[in-house]
Amino acid sequence: LECGFFQALFCCKFNQILIYLLNMTYKPTIGLEIHAELKTNSKMFCSCKNDLDEKRPNFNICEICTAQPGTLPVANEEAIKKVIKTGLALNCKIAEDSKFDRKNYFYPDLPKGYQISQYDQPLCEHGYLDINVEEKHISNSRELEIWSNKIKRIRIRRIHLEEDTGSLLHPDDADYSLVNLNRAGVPLMELVTEPDITSGKEARKFAEELQIILRYLGVSFADMEKGQMRVEVNISLSNPSAGGKKLGTKVEIKNLNSFKTVEKSIDFEIERQNAILKSGKKIIQETRGWHDKKEITFSQREKESAHDYRYFPEPDLPPLYFDKEFIEKIKSEIPELPEQKRERFTKEYALDKNTVEIFIVNKDLSEYFEKVISELDEWIEQNTDNEFKKIIKIASNYIISDVQGLLQNKQFVEIEFKITPENFAEFIKMIYQEKISSKVAKMVLSDMFHTGSDPSSVIDGNNWGQMKDEGQMEKIVKEIILKNPKAVLDYKAGKQNALQFLAGQVMAKTRGTSNPSTVQKILKKILSN
Ligand code: ADP
Ligand code: MG
Ligand code: ZN
Repeated sequence: LECGFFQALFCCKFNQILIYLLNMTYKPTIGLEIHAELKTNSKMFCSCKNDLDEKRPNFNICEICTAQPGTLPVANEEAIKKVIKTGLALNCKIAEDSKFDRKNYFYPDLPKGYQISQYDQPLCEHGYLDINVEEKHISNSRELEIWSNKIKRIRIRRIHLEEDTGSLLHPDDADYSLVNLNRAGVPLMELVTEPDITSGKEARKFAEELQIILRYLGVSFADMEKGQMRVEVNISLSNPSAGGKKLGTKVEIKNLNSFKTVEKSIDFEIERQNAILKSGKKIIQETRGWHDKKEITFSQREKESAHDYRYFPEPDLPPLYFDKEFIEKIKSEIPELPEQKRERFTKEYALDKNTVEIFIVNKDLSEYFEKVISELDEWIEQNTDNEFKKIIKIASNYIISDVQGLLQNKQFVEIEFKITPENFAEFIKMIYQEKISSKVAKMVLSDMFHTGSDPSSVIDGNNWGQMKDEGQMEKIVKEIILKNPKAVLDYKAGKQNALQFLAGQVMAKTRGTSNPSTVQKILKKILSN
């Protein structure tokens, strides 16, 4: 009897006891569903303008996207091509035969009472995206944390095409809601991953890399804050003693409007589910929202199943067939993708990881950088490898920090950038050849940015040119030496810092217009007398 009692206790509480004894934790499993609004001229099934910046409500609408009786949809070829392009870039198998289906549900932002989507024949399937993840290893012997980079492959289950809904506005204190159908019928791509993700950080990385790819492909602006890219998280915890084979009950998190909240909501949800499971309770399958201020997830509703949508083939649209030529043509239009560019930038320009990453995210800035480098090409060729690296470093530093600073959070393409690559290259040359000090360089660059002039005329016009008269410079050096007897003594006692200090004084006195190495040369000459 006793044995039976323990056996029973052991069986029903087996997992919990094991987890407790071995201090095991539940293993998180995460899959993402990501929507992206496509960048096309017109909407998905009518010729209304697809303009996400239109502020006038119900301005870009017609009989079709407002679902008037008797209207018929016509599929937007450009949108189909853009989804296929994305699928190809993400290593998917592209469907030869495809079709649209109706997904039925009632909601005021959906005028037809159904959404045209794709069910069992999505445009793309079975792809993957490799992401760079950092891994922490704990070395037991010395309790050291060791971080290393690892490539992790996240499989993509499918990418399909559908239409966006309208948007609802709920005015404060009103007993009604307003409907704006400008967004209704905008082409929307949905990507679904396999549950291959295991942490908030990985999910964020996937979404960030996908955003860069969508932008490189020119298929979407993919701005999360503007809702052009929306990430939904599916997350469950599985019992480690079951060998991680059987997945747990999943919870879906919606309304995440930044990469940060994607990561945070997952981290929160892992903790929440862990606590529930450890106390022996069960997870309810439901949709949860993210509370931005409290930084918690909260229950919204229990999830509807696919069955509720009564999917069936869209009778008003013909099935789709794509031949090899059509697909090959799209393939040939795929530009260099971020991962290839990372490799090339690292190899070609010997830039460090952080600099490369800034260029990857800011595509326009990196293209400008490459134009500047190509202007410098001929001149660079006459230099050694080491000098080449130095020039590249100067150019990338000025473009990343100084130019970005002048842009004041605006995108490169948003403003009329007045400095031509030729002038920028000329400017870099002057810095490299020490014709201008870094202090003068900043002033010159700011002037070039505002006027678009070439660096020589900016320097001449402002009288910022370097002091060429060595006689005059010697006079200033002597003046500084007289004023700083202690530094002179320090230098004579062998302190190199003292020389730097004196050189700094001379530079300041000449407002940065003297050549640093000439100053050093003259200082040394006079001090050795
Ligand atoms: P549903 O039919 O509920 O939408 P799907 O099978 O279509 O579920 O999967 C939707 C997303 O959820 C996919 O990204 C998938 O990888 C992920 N997913 C499925 N099952 C689980 C699970 N048990 N835990 C975490 N994610 C899951
Ligand atoms: Mg689903
Ligand atoms: Zn329309």
